[in-house]
Amino acid sequence: MTMPDYSMHEALRRQAATAAQAHRVDRRGWTDAQWADDAERLMGELDGAVTSLVNGHVLALTAERKRLVAEVESLRAQRDAALALHHRTEVEGHFGACATQDCDHQDECPLVMIGVCNACFNHVAPLYEDDDRPWSGDVIWPCPTAAALGVQPEPADD
Ligand SMILES: [Zn+2]
Ligand SMILES: [Zn+2]
Repeated sequence: MTMPDYSMHEALRRQAATAAQAHRVDRRGWTDAQWADDAERLMGELDGAVTSLVNGHVLALTAERKRLVAEVESLRAQRDAALALHHRTEVEGHFGACATQDCDHQDECPLVMIGVCNACFNHVAPLYEDDDRPWSGDVIWPCPTAAALGVQPEPADD
């Protein structure tokens, strides 16, 4: 009576595990370039029409992803440049009812600090040299440009 040859079975199992291990790549945190290189490596390593087709799609998707990332970065840079111009600053002046002289301050209107857009305010600043002129809502932060770029209105504090 012979014992089953477990050692041979074990050797085959280990060999299969080693082969599987060789293909296991830790892709966490990979850059686009690393993904592209790996896709090319797999195309060279494996054969079969289906594998090539799949890898071809992967390469196309990788190229498309790369193009989209570049476009997002470009748009983000343009947005940042616009917001570097249209940024919040504060000016002292009369606001609301005081600006339109609809208040009850009897010529003693308090000056208050108002959040305005630096670019838009400077553009129309000459118009405000006369204190009695009502403020245009377009200079109040966020201005229409900043709002269009996603800047949220400031919460009103009384
Ligand atoms: Zn007033
Ligand atoms: Zn502005």
